[in-house]
Amino acid sequence: MVSLSVVIRIFVERKRDKGSDLARAVGRQRRAYDLRAVLTFGMGLLFAVLITASFFLQWYAYRQAQSHAERRAHYAHLSQIGQSYLISVLDQALGFRGYLATGDPRFLEAYYRGQALENRSRITFARALRPEDHVLFGRVIEELEKRASEWRHRVAEPNRIRRERGPLPDIARVMVLGKVKLDRIRGSQAELASKLREYAYKERRASRREMAQTSAIATLLALLVAILGILLIRFLALHVARPLAELAGRAERAEPFRLPSGEEKIQEVRALSAALYRLDEAIREREAWIRSAHSEAVELARFGEFVQQLRDEAELYPALVQNLSTKTGASSLRIAVRNANRSRLDVVYPDLSREAQVEHAVLQDPSRCRAIRMLQVVSEGAASPTCCQCSFGAPDEGSYVCAPMLAAGDVIGLVNLQAPRDEAFDAEAIEVAQGYVRFASTTLASLRLLATTRERALRDVLTSAYNRAFLSEFLTKQINQAERRQVPLALLLLDLDHFKKLNDTYGHIAGDRALVAFANCLHQQVRSGDAVVRYGGEEFVVVLVDSGHEAALEVAERIRSAVEKLNVMLVGEGPRTLLRTSIGVSVFPHHGRDEASLLAAADRALYHAKATGRNRVCCATDADALHLGVSNASSEA
Ligand code: GH3
Ligand code: MG
Ligand code: MG
Repeated sequence: MVSLSVVIRIFVERKRDKGSDLARAVGRQRRAYDLRAVLTFGMGLLFAVLITASFFLQWYAYRQAQSHAERRAHYAHLSQIGQSYLISVLDQALGFRGYLATGDPRFLEAYYRGQALENRSRITFARALRPEDHVLFGRVIEELEKRASEWRHRVAEPNRIRRERGPLPDIARVMVLGKVKLDRIRGSQAELASKLREYAYKERRASRREMAQTSAIATLLALLVAILGILLIRFLALHVARPLAELAGRAERAEPFRLPSGEEKIQEVRALSAALYRLDEAIREREAWIRSAHSEAVELARFGEFVQQLRDEAELYPALVQNLSTKTGASSLRIAVRNANRSRLDVVYPDLSREAQVEHAVLQDPSRCRAIRMLQVVSEGAASPTCCQCSFGAPDEGSYVCAPMLAAGDVIGLVNLQAPRDEAFDAEAIEVAQGYVRFASTTLASLRLLATTRERALRDVLTSAYNRAFLSEFLTKQINQAERRQVPLALLLLDLDHFKKLNDTYGHIAGDRALVAFANCLHQQVRSGDAVVRYGGEEFVVVLVDSGHEAALEVAERIRSAVEKLNVMLVGEGPRTLLRTSIGVSVFPHHGRDEASLLAAADRALYHAKATGRNRVCCATDADALHLGVSNASSEA
C-alpha cells in the first residue's frame, strides 16, 4: 500500500532553485509529483478500493444470504412442527373414532400415541420459537394448541370415558362435534402454515432485493474504480505522455527545446525538460563557439596567406599590429626583433630613436626578458606581484602580454601588447595573439632567410664585397633614382697595380689576403649607402651615391692613398705595404646615363691611369662626355 511518507512527499515537495531563467521557470512550479509516487499512489488507491469493496461486498452478501436462508429454514422447521402437531391430533382423532365405533381398546393405542406426539410437538414448538416468533405467530400457535386442547378435553376425553361404559347413543352428534373441532384445528394449522410460508416468501424477496442492492453497489464501485482509473490515465496522459511526446517531436524535428513553463506537474518530466533545454543551450553555445573559432581560424589563415606573399619585413609589422589590436583589444603594441648579430633587440614598431631604445635594458640584453627566457607567453597585470620589472613591456597600470617570436625553437623577436584595463587579456585573446605572432614569426624567419640567401648570392665569397650580379641591379636602380632626384652619381673602377707580380712573388695566399685587405679598405673609405663590388680578379667597382666629380675624385684619391699604406700579411715575412691601385672615375650623367656607358668611361679612365704610370686617379675625359653630348666634363685629377 501507499506509504504515508510517499503521500506527504507528493503534497509537500517543492523545488526552490533561483538564479537563471531556467531555475526561475522551474522554481515557479509550486508542486510537482514524483512519477513513481503518482503511479504507486494512483494504482494503489485503485487496487485498495477494488479489493476492499469486493471483499466487503462479498462478505455482506454472504452474511445476508446466510441470514435469510437460516430464517427460511427456521420457518420451514416451524411449519414442519405445525404439520406434526396436526398429524398428532389427527392420529388421536382416528383412534378416538375407531374406539367410539367399535369399543375396541386397540384403537386407543393410536389415540394415546397421538397424544404423546402432540405433547412432543408442543415441547418442540416451545423450544423452537424465538422471541420474535411470539409476536409473529404466538396468537396462531396459541389458538392451535387451545383448539387441540379443547377437542381433547371437551370432546375426546369425556366421550372416551362414556364409551368405556358402553356404546354411545349420540355417536353421530359426537362425531359431528369432533369433526367441527378438528376442522377448526386444521384451520389454525393452515393459518400457521400460511403465515410461515408468507414470511419465508418475504425472506426470499428480501434476499433477492439485497442481492440486487449488492450488485448495484458493486456496479457503482466498479464505476468509481473506472472513474479513478480514467482520472489517473488522463493525468498521466496530460502530464507525462503529452509533454514527453512534445519533447520527442522537438528532438525529431531538431527544433529548439523551450524553457520549461513551470506548469509541469511531474517531476521527472520537468527535470527532463529542463535537462534537454540546458543541453540544447549548451549545444547552441558550443555551435556559436565553433562558428566563432572557425571564423577566427579563417581570418588567421587569411593573415597567414597575406604575410606569405610579403617580400619585405617592414610590411609585416603594420599588418601584425593592425590584426593584433583588432583581435585582442590591445591599445598599445610594440614589436622588437633581434638584430643581425643577435646581440640585442631592435624596436621595429613603433618608431623609436636609437637613444630611446638604449634606455630599455631588456632590448640591450634580451635574456633579461622572462618571455624570451621561458620561450613562453607572459601575461600579467601591472598591479600583480609577479609583474615584470621591464620599462619596455610592463605598463604602469593595466595589463600586458609578451609573446616571444619563435622560429625553429629560436627567439627572433618579441611582441608586446598593452591595455589600460586589468585582466584585459583573457585566455582566448592570448591564444588568438599567439596564432598571429606564430605566423608573423614564421614569415619573419623566412624573409630573413631569403634575404640572407639573396645577400650571399650577391656577394663575393673571398672579400665579402658585392659581385657583378649585384652591381648590375644596384647601379640600374641608383641611376634611376639619381635621374629622378636630379643628383649626380659617381663610379670608381679600381685595379691593383702589378698584382700578378705580387702573386708570383709572394704566392696566391698573400694575393688573396691582399684582395681581402683591399676590399676592407674600400668599405672603410666609403659611406654605408655606397656599394663596393668585386668586378673580377683584382678589379673592383665602387658606386658613390649622391656624389659629383669633386667628391668622387676626393674619395678616389683617399682610397688610393689608403691603399698605399695598406699592410698585407705575407707568409713568414709579416706585414708589408705592397699594394698600389689605379682608379678610373666616371660620373652620371656627364660620362654616361646607363651602367654600360658609365663602366666603359671609367674603364677608359682606368686604362689612362695605367698607361700614365699607375697608382693614380683618372677621371673620364671630355671625349666621353662629348660622346654622350655632355659638356664641362673634368679630366685627370
Ligand atoms: P696591371 O698593373 O696592368 O693591372 O698588371 P696586373 O698584373 O695587375 O694585371 P694582370 O691582369 O696581368 O694580372 C692580374 C692578376 O690577378 C692575374 C691573376 O693571377 C690575379 N688574380 C686574379 N684573381 C685573383 C684572386 O682571386 N686571387 C689571387 N691571389 N690572384 C688573383
Ligand atoms: Mg686587372
Ligand atoms: Mg692589375
